[in-house]
Amino acid sequence: MKIAFIGLGNMGGPMAMNLQKVGHTLSAFDLSKEACNKFAAEGLPIAASAAATLAGAEVVISMLPASQHVEALYLGEGGLMAQIAPGTLVIDSSTIAAATSRKVAEAGARRGVAVIDAPVSGGTGGAIAGTLTLMVGGSEAELERARPVLEKMGANIFHAGAAGAGQTAKICNNMLLGILMIGTSEAIALGVANGLDPKVLSEIMRRSSGGNWALEKYNPLPGVMDNVPSSKGYAGGFGTDLMLKDLGLAQENAAAVRASTPLGGLARNLYAAHSLGGNGALDFSSIIQVLQSQANKQER
Ligand code: NAD
Repeated sequence: MKIAFIGLGNMGGPMAMNLQKVGHTLSAFDLSKEACNKFAAEGLPIAASAAATLAGAEVVISMLPASQHVEALYLGEGGLMAQIAPGTLVIDSSTIAAATSRKVAEAGARRGVAVIDAPVSGGTGGAIAGTLTLMVGGSEAELERARPVLEKMGANIFHAGAAGAGQTAKICNNMLLGILMIGTSEAIALGVANGLDPKVLSEIMRRSSGGNWALEKYNPLPGVMDNVPSSKGYAGGFGTDLMLKDLGLAQENAAAVRASTPLGGLARNLYAAHSLGGNGALDFSSIIQVLQSQANKQER
């Protein structure tokens, strides 16, 4: 299959590489020269522009930071939607507002282009291993059309509902992730402030009723686990500003449906303060730094 892939960041790059590895013909693009050069060096064909990836493409996949980037890419001035051939399938895997996903899907429907939202979960490790969870918003028929491609990027594929429903599922999940990373960090910081060995404490909690994804795969304290952002200076991974964006989407949605999400609100404010402290580009597990310093202060 000929696939246009736009957005070669921490997630998009490895997802595109997995599609190429199984024999699809890729044409990829990113606004960042650095990202293009990185994946060109791994053998990914890079086009001169987003529009140039479209030549002959049967499927278009995008993996961009936020709503405004997706809206600009497809619907902005010179946007792709007016250039994508009718009959093409568009899969947007970015985490964005459900309303934006619906707007792009409606524009696609007017042109005869099927658009599904398929945000992902599983981190950069999952993107590299091809084990992501994908949550799809769109019709059953559109999902079945996309399934052979989705299966090469992830291991768990769910139909969340109509257009935009994948995004709603994703913000529920990420609100929980944001909260549990803070809770996990708080518990580890407390143990360390009491002189416990963080590796032993993490293992105790992992095998106890506090066990969770952060303890399994993404320990926030440097040195507890290899190959996670905390052990690489919080580089790569899932940026604090991206988590802040997702928690903001969750709060906007909660206000719209009059839901009560007090911990989601608190989590958003903690990540916002962390970002304001100049840490927006660091992986979100660096939130432990805020809690560590508080635990240390309490100790003194
Ligand atoms: P990233 O910032 O590493 O990459 C995004 C890339 O998009 C950048 O390289 C940027 O240059 C590029 N870009 C922006 N606008 C563009 C445009 N108009 N045309 C071409 N390229 C453009 O982000 P990421 O970590 O790969 O995340 C991508 C999306 O996936 C986000 O919505 C994020 O919330 C979501 N997500 C991330 C993770 C994670 O662990 N990193 C996990 C699940 C979901």
